[in-house]
Amino acid sequence: MKWTSKGHQFDDLGMLLKDKNQVYIYGAALKGGKLFELLRSCNKWLNWEIAFVDADKCKQKDGYLGTQVLSPEELFNSPKENHFVIVAASPFNTVEITDILLKNGYVSDFNCFAYEKFMNFILPIHFVYNYDMVFFSSQSILPSTVCNLNCESCLNFNPYIKNHITDDFELVKNDIDSFFTAIDYIDRFQITGGEPFLYKELGNLISYIEENYRDKIFNLETVTNGSVIPSDELCKILKENDVHVILDDYRNALKDGDKKFNEIMNKFNEYGIQYTPNFVTEWFNIYPKGIDHSNWSKKELIDHYDACNNPFSTIRDKKIYACNYAHYAEKAGLIVENSNDYFDLSKFTPKMKKELVEFRLGYTNEGYVDFCKTCAGWVSINKNMVPVAKQIKRNNA
Ligand code: SF4
Repeated sequence: MKWTSKGHQFDDLGMLLKDKNQVYIYGAALKGGKLFELLRSCNKWLNWEIAFVDADKCKQKDGYLGTQVLSPEELFNSPKENHFVIVAASPFNTVEITDILLKNGYVSDFNCFAYEKFMNFILPIHFVYNYDMVFFSSQSILPSTVCNLNCESCLNFNPYIKNHITDDFELVKNDIDSFFTAIDYIDRFQITGGEPFLYKELGNLISYIEENYRDKIFNLETVTNGSVIPSDELCKILKENDVHVILDDYRNALKDGDKKFNEIMNKFNEYGIQYTPNFVTEWFNIYPKGIDHSNWSKKELIDHYDACNNPFSTIRDKKIYACNYAHYAEKAGLIVENSNDYFDLSKFTPKMKKELVEFRLGYTNEGYVDFCKTCAGWVSINKNMVPVAKQIKRNNA
């Protein structure tokens, strides 16, 4: 999106939930449960009454996570003035449930929201307008591009990297400091890579975040490609600091994949580390050969960026990048850095909170980022499907 009124872009939305004090999470299951825990952790500011709605009669009788579960009929018969609904369900069920809500008098993006829209858009706006706080749904930091794998369609563009970059620990700490000077609370803060288990300062980095900023983070996460066995010392740190690990499952693509993956899983279980195995059947190729949008008009590029709507961003060198993939492409030497593509945290002042939230929600001066000119886009618009973690011969250092 292109900035048209910097610092005031959401003036019409800022007060949308101001007079609401009751939120119903439609879907008393894993996704709704995570949202419930997050909102509870935010309730020192929000002070919302939170309950679930679900068609499951057992849950209506027993409650979920110690909280009341209403039937859909009870929700529809309750006065609508003071509450709003967040649909926390699979994409298919979200469409179906939203349809039912609309038939019962709710209005999309007014008093009923899809989970993703609420988390990535509505909640950050609500926080900055009503509490003068900067809330982000997610942010990643990538201290090292080094990886033991060389996947053909790597989203970090590993096959293109001539010289890998491992940031000095002081630089990483400075980036974390500048980020949390501006940001008050975040749902997911992720240390990513490269392969994070190869970053020798990972344990120290987790300890540094824990000591200084853990009260600003709901979920501290890292990710691993499932082929590097973490040391016992690292396992202890992951457990002690409540770090959630996304365990990518590339067993079908890697020689010895099963053996290493199982060994890592056993180790996580042994240490009581929280993890989520992540198996997908295919990847999308963000940088297929032959993509060239450099002749597109500005309007076409803005439309491409808006349709892509990639929700992920990364930080480095006291800058927040609008699109993480665009920054990874720059690190890999595919593009040169452009000041339109980042928010400079070294220039941040409290007066810029709304501007910062706008940037994180997708606004830039141009309305797109430079890499959009050669990028096929995130999964939302990208139909170039490729095999998962297909290994190719390594040319880089
Ligand atoms: S099209 Fe590519 S570069 Fe542009 S925002 Fe989407 S993922 Fe980022």
